[in-house]
Amino acid sequence: MSEPDLNSLIYCNRCKSKTNHFKQAEYIRKRDHDPDFSVTKYFLWICAGCEAGTLEISSRDSSVKNKDEEKSLFFPKREINTLTNKPFVKVPEKLNAFYKEIIDAYNDDLDVLCSVGLRALLEGVCNDKGIKGKIYKIKLLR
Ligand SMILES: [Zn+2]
Repeated sequence: MSEPDLNSLIYCNRCKSKTNHFKQAEYIRKRDHDPDFSVTKYFLWICAGCEAGTLEISSRDSSVKNKDEEKSLFFPKREINTLTNKPFVKVPEKLNAFYKEIIDAYNDDLDVLCSVGLRALLEGVCNDKGIKGKIYKIKLLR
């Protein structure tokens, strides 16, 4: 029987890098009366650098082939692959707000909403600049 990990290398949203995190608490929930025996683990991690807290929820996904494979979710969401808003000075405020919503959709993994928003934003920029006609063509894949 192995000793549980007391620290782990996790991306810290405040430190903007992977840092050591110390496990402060853990709870394991077992549902052995379910047809698919399920185990969900909850961990509270504290960053060794800035002391920010992160909740990890680790569980087995019964829908995948390898039922022993565990999947982890972190709260708040790790911001390692997120985009930040860039201010555009010469773009109308309405289009800047629209752009911010598109970035939020991208960061929340809402791919369809993001791509539809990008097309609408492109049309908005063309309208703002007085560009008419079919000058662009976007083909959605799938
Ligand atoms: Zn940190």
